[in-house]
Amino acid sequence: MAHRRDKPHHPFGSGDRQTAGARPSPARRAFGGRLGNAVLILGLPVFTAYLFFAVRFNEGAVFPTPRADLDAFVAALSPRPSDVGLYAGWLALQAALQQFGPGRRVLGSPLPNGQRLPYRMNGWFALATTAAVIVGLHLTAIVPLRTIHDRFGGLLTVSTGAAFLLGGFLYAYGRRYDGRSALRSGSFIHDFWMGTSHNPRLPWSSDGFDLKLFCEARPGLLLWIAINSSFAFVQFETYGFVSIPMALVWVFQLVYVADYFANEPAILTTMDIKHERFGFMLAFGDLVWVPMTYSLQAHYLVHNAHSLPLWAAVAVVALNVTGYAVFRTVNLQKHRFREDPDRCRIWNRKAEYIQTDNGGPLLVSGFWGWSRHFNYVGDILMAVSWSLPCGFASALPYFYPAYFAALLVHRERRDHAICAAKYGAAWQAYCRRVPYRIVPGLY
Ligand code: NDP
Repeated sequence: MAHRRDKPHHPFGSGDRQTAGARPSPARRAFGGRLGNAVLILGLPVFTAYLFFAVRFNEGAVFPTPRADLDAFVAALSPRPSDVGLYAGWLALQAALQQFGPGRRVLGSPLPNGQRLPYRMNGWFALATTAAVIVGLHLTAIVPLRTIHDRFGGLLTVSTGAAFLLGGFLYAYGRRYDGRSALRSGSFIHDFWMGTSHNPRLPWSSDGFDLKLFCEARPGLLLWIAINSSFAFVQFETYGFVSIPMALVWVFQLVYVADYFANEPAILTTMDIKHERFGFMLAFGDLVWVPMTYSLQAHYLVHNAHSLPLWAAVAVVALNVTGYAVFRTVNLQKHRFREDPDRCRIWNRKAEYIQTDNGGPLLVSGFWGWSRHFNYVGDILMAVSWSLPCGFASALPYFYPAYFAALLVHRERRDHAICAAKYGAAWQAYCRRVPYRIVPGLY
């Protein structure tokens, strides 16, 4: 494949999944084209702030009530210099742990040019060290744990600013270091939204520092758990106990993040790492959307300190464990298969697959024979189990499963289009063999 190299190529830059010179038009229409991209770029930060308003200043109601405290909301969003310092310190800590923490070196999937990028996997170390730092800062009263709860609005504003700055940097990075025109549409808005490069890397070490993997995995995911912990702590300080619903949400989401770190290399075969460019969309999602909105249930529970009957708690735990088992098993089946297709065994039988001319073989055994994205079913079951502990007094805590189901339906369609273009006839054969997209027998 001939890549145009009319720009300086970053020494740690990488190949792209798309063919150089390919018409960018279908991608350019992604997410509603330029207008849709602009609405998302401006609308997502506003919507994230609205969720903060609803849960904190509107009594947890979805729509504004007469008792909503708009002035306090606006004041809470104003950042202090200490918020900037706290967030900068957080990013610096996470970057240092990623770069210097002990960990395995793992190679990513082959790029179209055959190159395999190295990644450092040390998430458990980062999780444990971050927890120790948070506890240490709390016990020494340097940064009490409730600070995250109290300064949530300021941190939301600062992290949103950081996502815009990173989006600008990523836009410039691709234009500076990557000459492949297929990565750009010519529209500033679209290119800012989607990004202009695939695997931007900083040359901090011989392995480089992969910005996309770092943002996907570290500052947002760990901040999500830190935020939940702060919310649980504030509930404890206020009421003298941590409610069963709060404990369930905290444990469920901690397990989700810890599981990610336990199976860290599996991210290397996901859509975000393999196919997405890195631009504002992922930057905002990673840095702001995940920590600030995925913590909505715990946020809601801070001052809704109800309990749950035992049977309800047991049912919610059962739902979560089922969802988790499905999610993890499906993702690991694909990951292990892709590591060694010919020696992989699934459910005690040799894995069956469809050979392709362009890329890896397509698994049709195990859950990958049930539907083309059965992993999404597990994720949705877990999402529902995270909201049920909040009860039914408000629809607000159900925002996450509703949004997530819509996201996954849209995501499956995009992945389908990417794979259809990449694999051609082999993908069509796969779709005939496995006709359902997500839910077997239904969709
Ligand atoms: P997948 O992990 O399913 O990855 C899709 C890619 O896998 C395809 O692009 C293709 O890439 C490859 N593939 C597709 N079908 C097959 C097959 N039959 N055999 C082998 N390889 C195949 O999707 P996602 O990245 O969307 O999701 C990963 C997990 O992350 C899911 O569990 C999802 O629910 C979760 N997720 C969670 C989010 C959250 O916010 N909590 C957000 C998004 C996802 P190729 O062939 O090029 O390798």
